[in-house]
Order: sequence, then structure tokens, then C-alpha cells
Amino acid sequence: MSTSSGTGSANHRNGTHRSSLRAQSSASTSAPAHKPSLKSKTVLRKSSPAALGSAPSASKSGNGGDSGVPGRVRVAVRLRPRNGEEMIADADFADCVELQPEVKRLKLRKNNWDTDTFEFDEVLTEYASQKRVYEVVAKPVVEGVLDGYNGTIMAYGQTGTGKTYTLGQLGEEDVADRGIMVRAMEDILAQVSLETDSISVSYLQLYMETVQDLLDPANDNIAIVEDPKSGDVSLPGATLVEIRDQHSFLELLQLGEAHRFAANTKLNTESSRSHAILMVHVRRSLKTESNGNSHMTKSLKPPLVRKGKLVVVDLAGSERISKSGSEGHTLEEAKSINLSLSALGKCINALAENSSHVPFRDSKLTRLLRDSFGGTARTSLVITIGPSPRHRGETTSTIMFGQRAMKVENMVKLKEEFDYKSLSKRLEVQLDSLIEENERQQKAFVDEIERITVEAHNQISEAEKRYANALEEEKQRYQNDYVESIKKLEENWSKNQKKLAAERLALGEKNGLDITSNGNRSIAPALEEVSELRRMVQKEAQLKMAAEEEVNRLKLQLTESKRVEVSGNSEIMRLHKMLETETQQKEKLEEEIATLHTQLLQLSLTADETRQNLERHGSQKTSGGALDSFMSQLKLPQLQDPGNAEKPPVAKLFEQVGLQKILSLLEADDADVRIHAVKVVANLAAEEANQQQIVEAGGLTSLLMLLRNTEDETIHRVAAGAIANLAMNETNQELIMDQGGIDLLSSTAANAQDPQTLRMVAGAIANLCGNDKLQTKLRSEGGIAALLGMVRCGHPDVLAQVARGIANFAKCESRASTQAGTKRGKSLLIEDGALSWIVQNAKTETTAIKRHIELALCHLAQHEGNAKEMVKEGAIWELVRISRECSREDIRSLAHRTLTSSPTFLTELRRLRVDIR
Ligand code: ADP
Ligand code: MG
Repeated sequence: MSTSSGTGSANHRNGTHRSSLRAQSSASTSAPAHKPSLKSKTVLRKSSPAALGSAPSASKSGNGGDSGVPGRVRVAVRLRPRNGEEMIADADFADCVELQPEVKRLKLRKNNWDTDTFEFDEVLTEYASQKRVYEVVAKPVVEGVLDGYNGTIMAYGQTGTGKTYTLGQLGEEDVADRGIMVRAMEDILAQVSLETDSISVSYLQLYMETVQDLLDPANDNIAIVEDPKSGDVSLPGATLVEIRDQHSFLELLQLGEAHRFAANTKLNTESSRSHAILMVHVRRSLKTESNGNSHMTKSLKPPLVRKGKLVVVDLAGSERISKSGSEGHTLEEAKSINLSLSALGKCINALAENSSHVPFRDSKLTRLLRDSFGGTARTSLVITIGPSPRHRGETTSTIMFGQRAMKVENMVKLKEEFDYKSLSKRLEVQLDSLIEENERQQKAFVDEIERITVEAHNQISEAEKRYANALEEEKQRYQNDYVESIKKLEENWSKNQKKLAAERLALGEKNGLDITSNGNRSIAPALEEVSELRRMVQKEAQLKMAAEEEVNRLKLQLTESKRVEVSGNSEIMRLHKMLETETQQKEKLEEEIATLHTQLLQLSLTADETRQNLERHGSQKTSGGALDSFMSQLKLPQLQDPGNAEKPPVAKLFEQVGLQKILSLLEADDADVRIHAVKVVANLAAEEANQQQIVEAGGLTSLLMLLRNTEDETIHRVAAGAIANLAMNETNQELIMDQGGIDLLSSTAANAQDPQTLRMVAGAIANLCGNDKLQTKLRSEGGIAALLGMVRCGHPDVLAQVARGIANFAKCESRASTQAGTKRGKSLLIEDGALSWIVQNAKTETTAIKRHIELALCHLAQHEGNAKEMVKEGAIWELVRISRECSREDIRSLAHRTLTSSPTFLTELRRLRVDIR
């Protein structure tokens, strides 16, 4: 297995180390071409980047990035002292190894004359203290873990060579005996701050490819989980115990050991056949430097955490590799027992040779240690050997294992990440405390308001009381003064009376005759006194008045202060009322807007119609004037005949003959003359400019007379046309009504045969229908009935005028009801039976009729009072149809709006499940 070199040993014997120095590769890779010196060079070079004992500070700048720092697996060899048995049994033999710790070399005695020399990262003699072993083998790894690197410390060697002593010795009897696990935890505990950092431990045994939990024996088959992305392995099923002090850790190790013993007894095996694995997870929070930033920025920065995992592996005895099938195990069992260890050897060979495939997946141990060999962890391996020459074979194989492991390069990586979870938790706590603070402040605010209110109330009542008291006092004072004054006066008065009487008496006694003169003399001062007293009485009266005034003033003040108190309330009431009024006005305005909207529509419709008419009579000459276009449709067909109604002759006639004369001809006896005259008047009436003149000259009255007095239908037709033209004007409309026009037009219609006559009459009534003031009168005089009566003729021109009249009337009704602000009852149109005609004709193909009907329906629908009837008559379906199908978008939306704003319609539509959206 090991290659010997004669040259090497010769050199050695010559006392030169250099050429005998060998860095042994596995037997399979050693080739003659490889010079040992070159190999040793390679080892020396490789050992430089991360020498044992140097802290991994070089990689601190890695900061969690993907790039790692090359770090070779560090290997130390430790020789156990001879034990009692060896002292006796091997007494006559030299140790199979010779250590040269100062040059970190080990000489393996092959036989009495030949040795192989190997270099290690650390050579620990049988005298090496546990402390020193910890410091050279484990401390750098532990420090790496504290800095956020994963670390592995592992012992490999034959059973009984001191693996457990090196790693797991508890040192309870002698502190100097403490092994790596105990010392590592001591170091970790000394460096972390338990307030911000945490340490947790799992302790496992791997035996026959089964991972058992040494902290929970029931948990005897733990799965190894690999993160497919990062490749990190973890054992989520393993018990994790938080460590806060050394004592609990020692207890945990003891417990683990006890469980291990029990488990192995149960499995009828020994501890040396299983691997013990201690995992220590260290999670440290880094203080993020504030850089003088504001508190807020600082608190929003997630804390940085470093997570290091220390894995300490006490491997199964290495001797089993070559002794399968021994000790009562079946071959299969033996294979299984050793599977992990042999797989580890294979992986290390592959890594040492830089092979493209490393069979990590072959065993659980290699899966668990994937990060430790060729991964991102710092790995320190201690190989333990015994001195006995009887075990030279095992010792040799152990040394070769160590040599190969030295070639394994790891890429050491810092495990650092931002701790968003704890940031979010911290922010949540902050938020909650702010919410609490806010709530407190709010409460304090409300309390303060309450306090101020109470205080204000108290002050008011205090002031009131003070006023009342002052008032009372003042009153009392004045009353007292008054009573006092009166008393004084009375006293004075009686005193004076007495004095006067005494004086008189004295005087009378002295000289009986001279009373008068003497009496006069003595009365004078008495009178003076009386007037003095009167003045005093007057003064007192004034004082009393002043006091009463003062009382009144104070009373006023009191009421004023009360009034001020109440005025706040009344102000609120007033504002409430204002708000209500505003709302009502707003509603009214909205309704008005809707009405105006429909009126606008009607106007645009009329304009459309006129345009069509114009187009129809494109060749016809029309005179100017704002209303000319509309009037042209009402012009009599006869008059539109150029031969019959040319303007120049008519105008000439007008100028030459004079209007009065022409009008007088309307009453001519000769029927022909009357016909001509009425035609001329009609033609003149078609011009807006002439209308006022015609009316003022009595033309309207004459035209109405013609309707009454003539039987001739031509005259009726022409006169009605003229009346229709004059009926464009509001004043004329009133005149027509006043002069019994409706009655005349009705009877004309009743007797007419010619559709054009009916058209003229209907046109006139339709114009009257558009006057808001005439609604009731028009209806009561039978205007609507007359209009509806004319539909009998069926001519579209007539029907169009009837529809226009109805639409006009409906428009006025809706306007009136909006302005009145109250919803009226049913429409007069509906009462007169117009609705069924509207519904029947709503589907007409004639555009002129259709548009008016649509508008009439919309106007009627605006009033809830009509809704019931409209539902009953089926008008609602026409509205629905209009809202869906009408070619004019504005009418469509108007219909939709009226439908959706009426509760009756909405209920009906819902009842019949008609969706009008
Ligand atoms: P392994 O775990 O490799 O089977 P152990 O650690 O159990 O071996 O060691 C076997 C025996 O040797 C134990 O009694 C242990 O105390 C002793 N021993 C091992 N190494 C040393 C050492 N360096 N100094 C003193 N005693 C040791
Ligand atoms: Mg052991």
C-alpha cells in the first residue's frame, strides 16, 4: 500500500530529511513519474492559504457572497501514549512511529531498517495536552463558526487510539482532560451574547445507515434533507436544544452518551462501530453601524445575522474497513456498518485526485459531511494513532487517510444573511407601540375636551349665580336706602310739625293780635323746610328709578349671557335647515336639468325634421327669417306652388293694397275673393316679419272668423295654415285661445276630409300644446281630444303633427311638475287616452312620428304619477325598447335614465326579470 523508496530511506539514513519527505498519495495515484519532492512541495504550497491556527479573517470581506476562499482540509496527527497493556506487551519493542513535532513530521517505521516520513499540518505527541490539541486543531474552526463559517472537526482512527478522548472527554474529574466538544462550547459561550445570539445543539448517532437522535431515543430514523438550490444538508427531524450555559451542555452530552450506550446495547453493538455527530448551530446578530443616520432609516435596515454550524464527528473505528465479517456480523451487516466510513474514504480519494465525480451520495455520512469535504466549511481532521507496532497496518492506513485528506480543498464561505424576519418583527412591535401611544393620546384628548366642557359649564353657572347674587344685593341695598330715606323724611316732617306747633303756641301766648305778622315770619322757614323735604323726596325717587334701571340692566345682561349660550344650538339648527333647503334645491335643479335635456332633444329633433323638409323642398324658394325653416313645413302646398304664390306679387300686393284692405277682403261676399285673400294672408303670415302686423291689424281674428263662418274646406285649410304659422308666437297662442280657437280648430278638424286640412289644424294645435300657460285650458276645451280625433285619417303628415303636439304637451307637463316641485297626479294626456295611441304608434316606421312619440314617452315617464298607467298600458316596454334600440344615442340614454329613476319601473322590471343595464 505505501510506497517505499530506497533513495528516500538512504537519504534519511544520511540524515537529510528533505528527500525522504513524502506526501503520500493513495496507492492508486502514485505513479513513477511523480517525484516525492514535487509532491511535498505541492502540499507545502497548498497549506499556505489557511494554515491551522490562523483565524479565517481573510474571508470576512466575503460577506455572504457566492465566492469563497480556498481552504484546505487541515489534518493533525495525534499519538496516544502507551496504555498499560502496551507497556507490558510491547515492552521490548519500539513504537511504530516516531514524531518530529517541531518540523511537523511523522516517521512510520516500516521495518527495522526502513521508515517513511510524512508531513502533517500538526503533529501532536503523546505528551500533547488536551488544551494544546484544542488550540491547534479546533480553535481556528470554532472561531470561524463564530464569524459565520461552517466548520467541521473530525477524528479518524483505529478504535482505542483516542478519538473520543480527543473530542468527547468531559473532564469532570480533571479539567485539564476536557476534550474539544467541551472546550469549543466554552469558547462559543464566552463569545456570544445570549441576548442577541443563540446556540442550539443536536446530537446524533449514525449506525448501519440510520441516523438516530441521541437526545430523543424514540427518534431513531432521521431523514437527511438536502436543499436542491444551495445543496445545504439538514436534519429537520433532529431534536434541537437551545444552550444557554456550559452546565446544560455537559448534561446534554452525558444524556447523549447514555442514550448512545443504551441504543448500542439494544442493537448488540459497540459505540466504536457507530459515528457520533454533534451539531452546534450558532446564530449571531451583527450590530449594523448607524452612520449617523436617522432613527427611521436605521430601524428599517434589517439586522445582519451570521449563522455558523460546527459539526464534531467522532467516527467509527477505522479498523473495521479491513475486517468485515468479523465479530459475529454477517457480511451484509459488516458492509453496512462500514459503508459510511468506506464511502468517506472513497470521497476523500476522489477529492484528493480532483476527480470529476465524488460519490457523496453513496452513504449517509458522506451526505452529511458533504460541506466538510470539498464544500464551504473549514474542516480540521485529527487522525489518532496508537504506538503499538502490532497495529502497524491500521496505523499506516490511518496515516494514508490523513495524507489524502490534506489534499482536499474546500471553498470556505461566509454564511451571512439579512434577517428580514426579525426586522419585520421589530417593526411590528414599533408599530404596535405607536398605535398604543396614539390611542392613549386620543383618549387624553377626549378627556381634556370633556374636562374643558365641564369647566366651562361650571364657570357659566358660577357667573349666573354671581349675577343673581349681585342683583339681589343691589336690590336689597336700594330698598334699604329707600326705606331709610322715607323714615328720615317722616321723622323730619314730624319734628318740623311739632316745632311749628310749639312756635305757634308760644307766639299766641305772647301777643294775641300780632299773630299774623309774627306768624308770617315764623312760617317762612317752615315752608323752606317743606320745599327742602320735597326736593329730598324727589331725589329719593330718582335714586329709586336709577336702582330700578340698574336692576333692569343686570337682568338684560343675564338674558344676554343665556342667549349666547343658546345661540350655538340655534346656529346648528339653522345650518341644518340650510343644508336641507340646499339639498331640496339641488334635487329640483337636477330635475330641471333633466327636463331641459329633453327639451334640447326636442329642439334638435325639430331641427332635424326641418332640415329634412328643406331637403325635400330643396328647389323651393324660401325667404329669410329665423323661424323660416320651421314655418316652411307648415306652408300650404298650394302656396308653395311657384305660379300661385310667388313672393314678388304678394309683396307688391301687400305694399300697394295695404294689409287692412287685404284683410277686409277676407270678409268679401265673393267666395273666390275670400279664397284669394286668405291665400295672400296665409302667405304673408308665413313670414315672421309680417306676423305681428297681421295680428295687430285683426288678421288673426279674421282668420278664426273664416273657420267659423265658411263651409269651404279650401278656405279652412288655408286659414288653418295661416293660424298655425301665427301660433308659433306665444302672444298669438294666447290670443287664439282667448278667441275660442280650440273650439274652432276642433270643429274644423271634425268636418275636414282633406288630410292637408287636418295637417294644418293639427300643426296649429301642436303649436298651442307647447305653451306652458295654456295647458289646462287647452285640454279642458278639448284640444287634446281634437288632436287625438285627427289620427283617424292615418296620413303620416297628420300623425306627425299629432305626435308633435303630444310631445309638446308632455314636455310642458313635465316642466310644470318640476317647477312646482311636487309630483302631480296622472298626466292630462293619459287621462284623455293618448297613451294607448302612443303605444300603438311607437313602432311606426315614419321617423318624424317615431321621434316625437319617443320623446313624449320619455317626458311622461319622468313622472312617477304616470308610471303605473305606463306599466299597465305597456308603455314601459316601449321605453325599454327605446333604451336599447333607438338610433339616437341621446334618446336612448334618456329612456334608460327615466327607466332607472322610477321606483315603479324598477320594481316592474325586477318582477319580470328584465335586465336594463
Ligand atoms: P477511541 O475513541 O478512539 O476508541 P478512546 O478515546 O476511547 O479511543 O481511548 C481509549 C483509551 O485510551 C481511553 O481509556 C482513553 O482514556 C485513553 N487515551 C486515549 N488517548 C489518550 C491520551 N492522549 N492520553 C491519555 N490517555 C488517552
Ligand atoms: Mg471512541
